[in-house]
Amino acid sequence: MVAKNAKSKNGPGNEADDGPSSSYFIDPELATANGRSLSLLLAGRRCYECQQADERESPESSDHVQFMERIAEHCSQTPDYLLPDTPLKEAIFRVLLTAGSEPKSSQDISKVLSEKWALTAYPRDVSETVLQRLLDSSESYCIARVPEPEPEPSDEEEPAPGAGTAADPE
Ligand SMILES: [Zn+2]
Repeated sequence: MVAKNAKSKNGPGNEADDGPSSSYFIDPELATANGRSLSLLLAGRRCYECQQADERESPESSDHVQFMERIAEHCSQTPDYLLPDTPLKEAIFRVLLTAGSEPKSSQDISKVLSEKWALTAYPRDVSETVLQRLLDSSESYCIARVPEPEPEPSDEEEPAPGAGTAADPE
């Protein structure tokens, strides 16, 4: 892999803004690599009701996919899910979770947060630039950048996007 260096032939000023912004997703492999339990990380983002429901089981032993789906379809719809005083990294994580394992760009997240917080008493800077910077430093939230697609044309069959965590039928 050849790293693009700053003195490429693209000319000056082309670096920060080339093409559509990168997308980010919650990467279970990053959790494993960091020795973190994604299940545990997700368990605490569920709504009160859902957290009460699993007294019997320890969240750590549960499958993170289950939590991800539950948060996307239920907990993220509750009014307490994205309170206006939520720290930004936490908010980014929660916005990503509303889409399950689907990647989002800083642009998508910026849009969600600015709409969500438009009428609050706490004006926040949720610009793409700010979010981008945070996204790139949110490894502890297991947030990873989606690898850029190879620029070369290909006649081969492309793998379906987002097929990473296909359910495994027993
Ligand atoms: Zn819930």
